[in-house]
Amino acid sequence: MIEEAAKLLARSRFAIAFTGAGISAESGVPTFRGFNGLWKKYRPEELATPEAFWKNPRLVWEFYMWRMNLIRKAKPNDAHYALAELERMGILKAVITQNVDDLHREAGTKNLIELHGNIFRVKCTSCSYREYLKESGRVDEFLQEKDVPKCPNCGSLLRPDVVWFGEALPEDTLDKAFRLAERAQVCIVIGTSGIVYPAAYIPQIVKERGGTIIEINVEKSGITPIADIFLRGKAGEVMDKIVRLIK
Ligand code: NAD
Ligand code: ZN
Repeated sequence: MIEEAAKLLARSRFAIAFTGAGISAESGVPTFRGFNGLWKKYRPEELATPEAFWKNPRLVWEFYMWRMNLIRKAKPNDAHYALAELERMGILKAVITQNVDDLHREAGTKNLIELHGNIFRVKCTSCSYREYLKESGRVDEFLQEKDVPKCPNCGSLLRPDVVWFGEALPEDTLDKAFRLAERAQVCIVIGTSGIVYPAAYIPQIVKERGGTIIEINVEKSGITPIADIFLRGKAGEVMDKIVRLIK
């Protein structure tokens, strides 16, 4: 099975990857299921919403600061590096991720589409102010801040530049992802439950257009019914083997 997956990828002319929280699990970033009971007994679905933010911005910011702090200590794993390597080899044309952890970029992936934003980016709730904290070198300063962060431009509340439950994805980002999916001959789907829409349309579009789906997950997911090859296992271990086989 894994040999077949490697062969398919090596021979493909346009391959993409679609990733979810599971690809970062081996980096120590919990998946949403892994969160349960971990942070003040709130479910992410109760905190990652505009309603929660406007009701209690302090609580939601505390949750994001906690996650940002956890994520900044995480390093990419073999799966992130394998995807960057496949891109350098000219096999992979893009990585479309639902993750906000920035680990694909850290691993060296160039053509990266972040469907749900990035936890190190913040934006103003009133004006057009945006900041990428890694670029401005303000991650530490931000995490030490005791107050709810305010916009340096207009003084309104800042918020994480991520897509919350119930919010629309940025149209240009989604368009780009759909166009890549339409062209893809092969799509490697890694570590996603495949139940968050519209992101989960990506592999479905690939399949409808006659492309092949290779799935890597520790258990069956919403994508498994349309997967041509299902590789059960940890993302890092399986992806490392695939890259070795291709080389
Ligand atoms: P999910 O938490 O719903 O599902 C994770 C999937 O990964 C599951 O199917 C699980 O079986 C699989 N998995 C767990 N460990 C694995 C491993 N070592 N190797 C391979 N697969 C493994 O995640 P989702 O599908 O991405 O959807 C949840 C939403 O939560 C997304 O929209 C995402 O933005 C957000 N989220 C992001 C992060 C992050 O940025 N790292 C973390 C948690 C949640
Ligand atoms: Zn502002």
